[in-house]
Amino acid sequence: MSIADNIKSLKKETIPLKVTLIAVSKTKPAEQVLEAYTAGQRLFGENMVQELVEKQEQLPKDIQWHLIGHLQSNKVKYIAPFISMIQSVDSLKLLQEINKHAEKNSRIIDCLLQVYIADEDTKFGLAFDEVIELLRSEEFSELKHVRIRGLMGIATNTDNEKQIKDEYYELKTFFDGIKQSFFRKDEAFSVLSMGMSADYKIAIEQGSNMVRLGSTIFGQRVVKHWKNN
Ligand SMILES: *Cc1c(COP(=O)(O)O)cnc(C)c1O
Repeated sequence: MSIADNIKSLKKETIPLKVTLIAVSKTKPAEQVLEAYTAGQRLFGENMVQELVEKQEQLPKDIQWHLIGHLQSNKVKYIAPFISMIQSVDSLKLLQEINKHAEKNSRIIDCLLQVYIADEDTKFGLAFDEVIELLRSEEFSELKHVRIRGLMGIATNTDNEKQIKDEYYELKTFFDGIKQSFFRKDEAFSVLSMGMSADYKIAIEQGSNMVRLGSTIFGQRVVKHWKNN
């Protein structure tokens, strides 16, 4: 099936209306992003700053770009002028840096706090107690140019569906608690980004309202770098 067919069938058959689809285009050339765009897709996710910036320059300006990969503080300035959402905020220091560059660009940047839920050492993210500590901190309350829209999490890369389900259930429960404790009157705090190609159906069952799909839309990624394709 073509990229356009994949998007259409996902939206028609698999992904409920209330769940937002982020098309993860990392490693894929701009022509393929354009193919998805032509099929109506406007939300795209990338995990590398340089690749994101180059695609943003080449592609239609009404694309909303989400950063979904680890962000180094010294690279925030490159994406601050245009980024639609940063899903991978994993420290107060990074959030302060985003706030600084958002202010310079006279913007408020939407962010998700990335929560560590996987049983793996390699994933970035905040622990549950670190999320609470961050939200309670005085430093956080001073940030006027970032808006926390919700939480993002990546489950363990495993065939064990019970484990994936438990991890997403835990994140949903945590999300509900954070909403109650810190954002009860803030309608903007509403996004729970969980689910990738391998596990998005489980994630949606557990309450996800934003899924990030790459290979389901664009096909398997080759290991080769995107610029050499
Ligand atoms: C690559 C990536 C995805 C998409 O992965 P697929 O398995 O291709 O759907 C989703 N989220 C994050 C954070 C990623 O890095």
